[in-house]
Amino acid sequence: MQVTIAQTLQDARRHIDDIEARLLLQYALNVNAVFLAVHSNSVLNREQVDAFQLLVTRRIAGEPVAYLVGERDFYDLTFKVTPAVLIPRPETELLVELALSRIPVNQTCNVLDLGTGSGAIALTIAKHRPLARVTAVDLSPDALSIARLNAEKLGIHNVQIRAGNWFDGLDQVEFDLIVSNPPYVAEGDPHLDQGDLRFEPRIALTAVDDGLACIRKIIVNAPDFLTPGGELLLEHGYDQGVICRQLLAESNFINIFSCPDLAGILRVSGGQRDDRALATS
Ligand code: GLN
Repeated sequence: MQVTIAQTLQDARRHIDDIEARLLLQYALNVNAVFLAVHSNSVLNREQVDAFQLLVTRRIAGEPVAYLVGERDFYDLTFKVTPAVLIPRPETELLVELALSRIPVNQTCNVLDLGTGSGAIALTIAKHRPLARVTAVDLSPDALSIARLNAEKLGIHNVQIRAGNWFDGLDQVEFDLIVSNPPYVAEGDPHLDQGDLRFEPRIALTAVDDGLACIRKIIVNAPDFLTPGGELLLEHGYDQGVICRQLLAESNFINIFSCPDLAGILRVSGGQRDDRALATS
C-alpha cells in the first residue's frame, strides 16, 4: 500500500504528539519542516516508512525525541545531544537571558559555566557575546566530547571546554560571571521515573542532600573565583528558591534575587560577591 507524508503523520498522531511525529519524520527522511509541509502528498517508500515506524515505536516506549533525532533547539541554536548529556530545556533559556543581560556587548568578560553538559549555556552565551571568554567545565568525558562537537559545529571559538570537578583546577578571582545548571533533583524524587528524565544521565540530574549538594558547593566556593563585583547565577528546582537565597546570604553574597521562569516558577537565583566582607575577613 502506498502512503503519503500526510497519511503517515495522521497515523502517527494516534500514538504520539503531532510536533514529535513531525520531528521524527523529518529525521527519518532527512528533510526540514518546510519540506514536510510542501510535499505532504508525496509517497514514502518502504525503507522510509520502516525507519519512521521504528522511531515511533521507540518514542512510544518513552525514549526522548531529542535523543532519537540526536539534537535539540535551545535559544537560537541547535545542539547535538546524546544520552550522555541532559536535554537542554526551555526554562534554562532564562539563565542564559539573565547572563547575557550582565555581559557587556563591547567589552571582554570572563564567564564560567559549571557542569556544561552539551555546552548549551556556555556556547549560547559565547555566540551572543563574541568578546566574552567562556570557560565550560564538566566531569563527564562523554559530555565534554559532545560540548566540543557542538562548539565545532556551531563555529564558536571563544569557549574553552575543560574537564573538571566544579572549581577544581580553576584559577581564583578569575571570573566576572559564574553560571550553572547543576544537578538539583533529590534522589528518589518520583519525577525521575517519569518522561524524559528516565533516559537522562543521573549524574546530571540528581544530587544528595535533597538535591542541594552541588548548589551548596557552588555557592560556598564561588566567591573565591569571582572578580570584585562578579555575579553568580544558578538554575534550581521549583522549591529551592528560598534555600538558595539563604545559602547565598550565608556566603556573603549581596543583591541576592530569584527570578521566575515563563511558567512563573522561581528558577534562577543569584547574587553578587560582597567585597566589603571579603576585604575585612
Ligand atoms: N530541570 C530539570 C528537571 O527537573 C532538572 C535539571 C537539573 O537537574 N539541572 O526536569
